Amino acid sequence: MDARSQELSANLRAVRGRINLACQQAGRQPQEVTLVVVTKYFGAQDVRRLAALGVDDVGENKDQEAREKHAQCADVALRWHFVGQLQTNKASSVIAYADLVHTVDRVRLVRALDRAAQAAGRRQDVLVQVGLDDPPRPDRGGVLIADLPGLVAELAAADGLRVCGVMGVAPPGVDPAGAFAALAAARGQVQTVVPEADMMSAGMSGDLEAAIAAGATHLRIGTAVLGSRPDVRYGLSEGEKSHKGDAQ
Ligand SMILES: *Cc1c(COP(=O)(O)O)cnc(C)c1O
Repeated sequence: MDARSQELSANLRAVRGRINLACQQAGRQPQEVTLVVVTKYFGAQDVRRLAALGVDDVGENKDQEAREKHAQCADVALRWHFVGQLQTNKASSVIAYADLVHTVDRVRLVRALDRAAQAAGRRQDVLVQVGLDDPPRPDRGGVLIADLPGLVAELAAADGLRVCGVMGVAPPGVDPAGAFAALAAARGQVQTVVPEADMMSAGMSGDLEAAIAAGATHLRIGTAVLGSRPDVRYGLSEGEKSHKGDAQ
């Protein structure tokens, strides 16, 4: 094993230890929680190392980077998660490699993904990203709770999509427990329309314990496994903060 693999292995062991402990404290089973390692900014070689270390799920937040890495790792069995803000003009690209799109937060994106999935002859699994910032922060993505019912109705009617649950990013700098409780409530709201939509994608390197306590099923962990990135602000780049790529 090379030095980088040893480092990743030690980090994975530490993260899995945190997950096990948090599950124990929450009275949950570790198998209920899927670790998605967010590999953005790190190369295909690290993705391969992670797969060799037993990682089954990786996450990316930029379409072009994700598409390239997915192609470079075509021979590796992995589930690919798209966790970044998504422009409608990237819908068909993302459909081609994503097993689960975590960030569906507006009707126009539902329609674009639905069209792309149907054109590709597949049913795309998606999560509804719920905005957890108070006051709301449109630049961070996520549907307002007030707009959730309309978005879920649209999703439930989209033959090319299957809504599997919710996703959220806790606001920085505050106790995440309240935000994750709101996300769990939003999942309950989605399940009144789609009962099987039981996934909850929540929890990052700094707050995975709170997410597990609140009922998360998918953790999105970057830094704690791979080390720090040049940009740790959830990977938002200038071009992605607006939805200027949206078609009418
Ligand atoms: C980068 C990213 C993560 C991982 O964050 P870490 O703090 O590095 O664990 C999780 N979720 C989203 C949406 C991200 O963009």
